[in-house]
Amino acid sequence: MEKVVIIRYAEIHLKGKNRGYFERVFANNLEKSLKGIRHELHRTSGRWLVEKFEEGRAEEVAERISSVFGVHSYSIGYLLGSSMDEIYAGAKLVSPKEGTFKVETHRGYKQYPLSSMEISAEIGGRLLDEFHGLKVDIHSPEHTVFIDVRENGKALVFGSFEEGAGGMPVGTSGKGLLLISGGIDSPVAGYMMAKRGMQVELLHFHSYPYTSDGAKEKVVSLAKILSKYTLVTRLTTVKVTKIQEEIHAKCAAELNVTLLRRFMFRIAEKFALKYGMQCLITGESLGQVASQTIEGMTSSNAVVSLPVLRPLVGFDKDEIIARSRKIGAYETSILPFEDCCTVFLPEHPAIRPKLSFIEEEEKKLDVETLVEEALRSAEKTEF
Ligand code: ATP
Ligand code: MG
Repeated sequence: MEKVVIIRYAEIHLKGKNRGYFERVFANNLEKSLKGIRHELHRTSGRWLVEKFEEGRAEEVAERISSVFGVHSYSIGYLLGSSMDEIYAGAKLVSPKEGTFKVETHRGYKQYPLSSMEISAEIGGRLLDEFHGLKVDIHSPEHTVFIDVRENGKALVFGSFEEGAGGMPVGTSGKGLLLISGGIDSPVAGYMMAKRGMQVELLHFHSYPYTSDGAKEKVVSLAKILSKYTLVTRLTTVKVTKIQEEIHAKCAAELNVTLLRRFMFRIAEKFALKYGMQCLITGESLGQVASQTIEGMTSSNAVVSLPVLRPLVGFDKDEIIARSRKIGAYETSILPFEDCCTVFLPEHPAIRPKLSFIEEEEKKLDVETLVEEALRSAEKTEF
């Protein structure tokens, strides 16, 4: 009898002529998430099994699997021979000791001498004999013991279905560049796109020495948390100190954030095009702050031709916070470190900046040289 983790995927995405490709990417992602844990991954009719790990690490395997997109549900269970005695030995381990229960059997192996109903009745009967606090309830039991008799003379026994991360395997929906700050929103935005199968690469702007090393460390911590889902373990940082100083010295104060945002987009686009990313991703949400009005978004879109995806555009802050907590980023996001956007923050940022005014102010700057210089400061961190 061997402890295993059973993984079921959302079939719907894996149909048609792309099936082989999707399955390869998915299996590859499962392998990546299990890096550092000895195991074997096997595909069997409609599911994957993680086998041959140290028994004590089952929870850890399950925990890792739980954040892989494309996993519909998973269970910790036992892989054993399909004789009734062997099945019962497993059932005993996953069965509750008291309360209401039922046994549910699925029989992939149609030549098995007993029917599904007979197997359930037999195992259920033996469990009732063993644990006197148990009672059968077919319709709404507190617990279910699941038995799956397979074609190869093996059976799987498990006691629950855990909900997976859902979504589509990362890497099957193109490649995007997330502009990641140290805030709450952008990590959630990255999570959302990865959930739809996008490979999400990370770009962060800092304004050293106005922003500290601590602020950068915080972004690396967030990137690590995000990598559980995106499976991407690198982050590029770009220095925009000089750009901010120039804007501050030469342009109308109320356009500070607007102009900086346009620089960020230009730099991000150049970077994305160089490395084959097909879109930019931000954590903006309509109307959340002065720069996130439709006019603000229009002004930054105006300087790039790649699509800009804003998966949080229609979310309220509390919805974003709930998601941030769920993915385990919130506690890190709220650590008090400055972001470059808060350096030189004007008292009254323009809420509806006019494009003509923005362009007029921007003429005071050598945009192209500033962008090229910033790009040359790019540093890659692997973690
Ligand atoms: P967040 O919580 O993601 O920081 P926010 O509500 O604080 O968002 P802003 O500071 O206005 O909003 O930033 C809007 C978006 O611009 C962010 O979601 C992020 O995608 C991008 N952004 C802001 N600051 C940076 C930065 N320092 N580096 C990279 N991207 C940034
Ligand atoms: Mg922010």
